[in-house]
Amino acid sequence: MSNILAIVGRPNVGKSTLFNRLVERRQAIMDNESGVTRDRHYGHGEWNGKPFTAIDTGGYVEGSDDIFEEAIRRQVKEALKEASVILFMVDCDTGLHGLDQNFANVIREIDKPVYLAANKADNRERMLAANEFYSLGLNAPIFPIAAISGSGTGDLLDEVANHFKDREPDQNDLPKISILGRPNVGKSSFVNVLIGKERSIVTNVAGTTRDATDTRYNLYGKDFLLTDTAGIRRKSKVHENIEFYSVMRAIRAIRDSDVCIVMIDAQIGLTSQDMNIIGLADKHKKGIILMVNKWDLIEKSSHTANEFRESIENKLGHLSHVPIIFTSVMNKQRVMQTLELALNVYENRLRKVPTSKLNEIIGKEIESYPPPAVRGRYIKIKYMTQLPTQTPTFAFFCNFPQHIKEPYQRYLTNKLRKHFDFKGVPVKVVFRKK
Ligand code: GDP
Ligand code: GDP
Repeated sequence: MSNILAIVGRPNVGKSTLFNRLVERRQAIMDNESGVTRDRHYGHGEWNGKPFTAIDTGGYVEGSDDIFEEAIRRQVKEALKEASVILFMVDCDTGLHGLDQNFANVIREIDKPVYLAANKADNRERMLAANEFYSLGLNAPIFPIAAISGSGTGDLLDEVANHFKDREPDQNDLPKISILGRPNVGKSSFVNVLIGKERSIVTNVAGTTRDATDTRYNLYGKDFLLTDTAGIRRKSKVHENIEFYSVMRAIRAIRDSDVCIVMIDAQIGLTSQDMNIIGLADKHKKGIILMVNKWDLIEKSSHTANEFRESIENKLGHLSHVPIIFTSVMNKQRVMQTLELALNVYENRLRKVPTSKLNEIIGKEIESYPPPAVRGRYIKIKYMTQLPTQTPTFAFFCNFPQHIKEPYQRYLTNKLRKHFDFKGVPVKVVFRKK
């Protein structure tokens, strides 16, 4: 899966305005590794049923013209390396600008589909002004748009999405497990231990993306695919954008997997970047386990693990159902259990509760604590069933679905988790009119 749209152009032409329009929810992931000051934004969107990732190349380093030229080059090149389609944005209000030509020169060297978005074409006059940009000499169609109102963006996206691949049907039914985490937490070591231990690694699956290794394992008679996002950093000679690549890779790996093993360093604890990754995995409704590695480096008393667990659960908030496992990859401690746990979570995600059992068990819980009445009206949940969705979703049929509030939804979710094993997977409840 590599539907990636890079939005490039000089400052103030309207890149972030368009980006915000394209993505479902802004997911700003800041570059905070290696002292990179500029930020890039990544977001997930969908057009004509095709999922894609948009990159807003954002700001850049200010400086002399030379530095500036270099900054543009870097900004564009970094984004373009990953992109499947390039959206080069210019401004009909200010018209052709010297920097536009600089961007055009860089883009010309790249062999990818390019579209020229002539933004701020708010009215007819400015739409005509868009023709001026033909003089950039790019062999790219020009679309006058107004990012601020959305005018013209639909036609543009129809064209852009032609280059995107369709949502991939599941290649096979093998559980797909990915290993994610910040650099140096121990991801490669983990994979190496597995490889050392398991003689039955089958192959590197053909046709996988060049920057993640999918390895097929057979463990205790279970077949699964492991996506290792670690090795790439070493292969990449581009030292300044570790963060960029690791984020892109993480997004892709999350999307393509069923269960994400998020690995952290016990000495560092759960960072906001880890929370970003976990949040993304949850948003994509994936199974998650948290692997606290380098546990050997922690000085322990009898309750260290419990305290650690509690503090992490607090930070996880509504994601505290994520199972936590303490490992030392170095000492080969709980390495296999981690995989078993991931496979358990995989099973949990597929779990289908029979309707009769669901009504019997959750029906009792509702009886003992019914939804509170609203303005003298009794709310009656008559019936419930699990929907045939990819992740566990339960529909509750009732007389006033709109009156069931958040705390009661949480009550039901907790009861579902209590009676059925959904550890590590998102559980959703929805309310429908009977
Ligand atoms: P970026 O630096 O390229 O990301 O540009 P921004 O998205 O921050 O936009 C720069 C300015 O242009 C903001 O004040 C926007 O409100 C404005 N802008 C963006 N799109 C349009 C548009 O379609 N029409 C007009 N008139 N202004 C726009
Ligand atoms: P990656 O960047 O996430 O792939 O991390 P690596 O696997 O390269 O590990 C980074 C460093 O941490 C290496 O020096 C490993 O030897 C070390 N390391 C990995 N796992 C453990 C562990 O469980 N305990 C200790 N003490 N060190 C570890």
